[in-house]
Amino acid sequence: MDKKKFYITTPIYYINDVPHIGHTCTTVAADIVARYHRQKAEEVFFLTGTDEHGEKVAEAAAKEGLSPKDFCDRIAPRFEEAWKGLNISFDYFIRTTDPRHEKVVQEFIQRIYDRGDIYKDRYEGWYCTGCERFYTESELVDGKCPLHPNLPVERKSEENWFFKLSKYQTKLIELLEDPNTNYAFPESKRSEILAKLKSGIKDLSISREKVKWGIPVPWDPEHTIYVWFDALINYYSATQFLSGKEDFWPADFHLIAKDILWFHTVIWQAMLLSAGAALPKAVYTHSFYMIDGQKMSKSLGNVISPQQLVDLFGVDGTRFLIARSFPFDGDSDVGIGKFKERYNADLANNLGNLVSRVAKLSEGVVHSAPEIKENEEIREYIENFRFDEALNTVFKKYIDQTNDLLNKSEPWKLPKESQERQGVLGKCINNLLAAANYLTAFMPETAEKIEKVFVGAIKPLDKPLFPRIA
Ligand SMILES: [Zn+2]
Repeated sequence: MDKKKFYITTPIYYINDVPHIGHTCTTVAADIVARYHRQKAEEVFFLTGTDEHGEKVAEAAAKEGLSPKDFCDRIAPRFEEAWKGLNISFDYFIRTTDPRHEKVVQEFIQRIYDRGDIYKDRYEGWYCTGCERFYTESELVDGKCPLHPNLPVERKSEENWFFKLSKYQTKLIELLEDPNTNYAFPESKRSEILAKLKSGIKDLSISREKVKWGIPVPWDPEHTIYVWFDALINYYSATQFLSGKEDFWPADFHLIAKDILWFHTVIWQAMLLSAGAALPKAVYTHSFYMIDGQKMSKSLGNVISPQQLVDLFGVDGTRFLIARSFPFDGDSDVGIGKFKERYNADLANNLGNLVSRVAKLSEGVVHSAPEIKENEEIREYIENFRFDEALNTVFKKYIDQTNDLLNKSEPWKLPKESQERQGVLGKCINNLLAAANYLTAFMPETAEKIEKVFVGAIKPLDKPLFPRIA
């Protein structure tokens, strides 16, 4: 029988940046979901990658005296390595400068053109080089780009190719209002996007005459395709140019951050409708992170890199902290100080210590793997991206209860061979193995270590799972 297929994507990260905690949270979240579905014996395709075209990349490359392609070739591996360093189980790392992607993009845009959904017009507006997009007067905040208040916006006018986005307004509203769809969730995002859609949408300029670092418009090679238009197609193109992946389209999940909500829930859906391709089943938006109460920014020097986290907390410690420390659907405040407190409390003093105590008390016992009953509550939390609650429940149900049981029954006071002692320890071990089963998606190496210790002849640990951090 064919396995159920599951396709999940992260945004492809803009190559002008270096990996930071924002990218890390999205990517770890996607990995948890991917691993969870693999554990359910589904056939998973997990895609991440880098977005490599556009003016900003060309400028950054020129500053370093490199060609745009050489610049991309130098930066893209930083993302790939960062994800490998966090044990991210992506199946493919896509780069938009891959000629196979470029070919699919050209075919895709040609389909939209042939449909009559692309026309030429003069565009005039406020252009932000930070965002590489035009803003209307009303979208500016105090005359500045809402995301780049320190960059001047330029009044620009040019001949562009336009996509008839407005043609899809009614259809998009209909789709988003259908309670059976998940084109934008959580619900707060659905209402936000619906309100914006209903207030009216304009056609979208999708080509640039002056930007050379991009994919040529097939029928007008003097123009390159707008970087966003090219980037969104990555989710689809990977399934087309990689062999045996066609059946993974439409994607089950696009995981995104709220600053790219409009692109994914309106523009991308309209592009697919126009090209006659199936729509993704769900777009999940997580929120933004503040670092110790401040917006993360290079100038404040508070950018947290994934490597910094791994150096401090280890791979699984980092993955745990990201999943456990905040709800994914609300804005959150994180910081190294808070991470340290939680790491010491939950992992060093609690889980790590418990595993080591039980292993020591059970030395020499031979234990076989118990059958684990599915916990619906935990499952539901994971499927709704409530990783914090899922982990909270795993800890309450399996870890805290085991601690209580140990402290109440004091098996170390009982004779080694007594049935009572073996009974208590057997329960403790089964709880830890059940915890490991649920921790697999979050902390794969730790889960494996726990299983290794407690299945078969039990030996004490030779070093703590999570050393305390000062
Ligand atoms: Zn901007």
